[in-house]
Amino acid sequence: MLPNLLNECEVRELQSLISQAQNVVITCHVSPDGDAVGSMTALYHYLRRINKNVTMVAPNIFPDFLKWIPGANDIHVYDKNEEALEPTIAAADLFMFVDFNEPKRMEKLGDAVMANNSPKVLIDHHLNPTDFGSVSCSHPEMCATCEIILRLLLQLSAIDEITPEEATCLYVGMMTDTGGFIYNSSRSEIYEAIGVLLSKGIDKDKIYRNVFYTCTTDRFRLMGYLLYVKMKTFPEYRASLMTLTKDERKLFSCKNGDTEGFVNIPLQINGMRLSVFMREDTEKKNVIRVSLRSVDDFPCNAMATDFFNGGGHLNAAGGEVIGTMDQAEAIFKEALKKYAPLLRGVNVS
Ligand code: 5GP
Ligand code: MN
Repeated sequence: MLPNLLNECEVRELQSLISQAQNVVITCHVSPDGDAVGSMTALYHYLRRINKNVTMVAPNIFPDFLKWIPGANDIHVYDKNEEALEPTIAAADLFMFVDFNEPKRMEKLGDAVMANNSPKVLIDHHLNPTDFGSVSCSHPEMCATCEIILRLLLQLSAIDEITPEEATCLYVGMMTDTGGFIYNSSRSEIYEAIGVLLSKGIDKDKIYRNVFYTCTTDRFRLMGYLLYVKMKTFPEYRASLMTLTKDERKLFSCKNGDTEGFVNIPLQINGMRLSVFMREDTEKKNVIRVSLRSVDDFPCNAMATDFFNGGGHLNAAGGEVIGTMDQAEAIFKEALKKYAPLLRGVNVS
């Protein structure tokens, strides 16, 4: 049996906040990923089954390959419906924030939410949480926020009550944040958690296909283009860079989310320790979104903080550059120079 994550006092506090609330709003970070959508929907099902009014609000749209998740169709998108959502946000008597740890990760939705003084519960696995919730359930050792939520549900409700829908949502988050359990997933408790989810009847093979094997032809060709034409390698730094402009996106009718996962591919090259993918933001002008991935002990999050005004985990981090792609590329090269000793690495496996 999985050990308790919260102590008695924390469980009581969480239980009392939830039992006193009637109108709960759940939010996640901008550009929601599988863990964000899985966490929101799992909590949504749980809170509805204990008779709460629940509204899920994402700061902006989430990718099509997550739309099949049970409950995902009920997620409201803030930047498309600001005015319509304002009354619901103002009337919320409890907020639950999942998969992020600073209000700025909600962008404009953060301003609306923070203007309401109702209690806020933060459930997250990112490092260095800022203190902006009434109750903070921060566990960076967990592979996904969904793993934390499963552990909370096991403490808050009987295992028998967890539904197959909730289990499916939770599995999506754990699977996507570990790239299908190929990184950040060596704690044995993860597999005990998966055992619990399997006992609820999830179809893990179908979930994998639903998420990872639903490419459009355009996405496949874009992947080929990026790898063949755009990827630059820097063998002396054991690093690679891919860039994508808005015009190139158009060439492949590429939507938000269509580039998900591409940044991982160059790490399949023998000896590669760092892969960076930079793309022009689809919505904001003059903003380059940056994704960083690494293997072994190379700290992507440190590089993201130092050079890209971002952060994240040791092996997966992100940030942005305000400026042109050329400027972003120049910053990347500076970063390579500064991190050269760590990139060349001594702990080569
Ligand atoms: P992705 O490359 O998938 O956008 O982001 C990978 C991880 O980096 C995310 O799970 C998140 O932890 C972190 N991350 C991405 N963008 C940002 C950012 O702008 N700021 C911070 N602090 N972390 C980010
Ligand atoms: Mn996550």
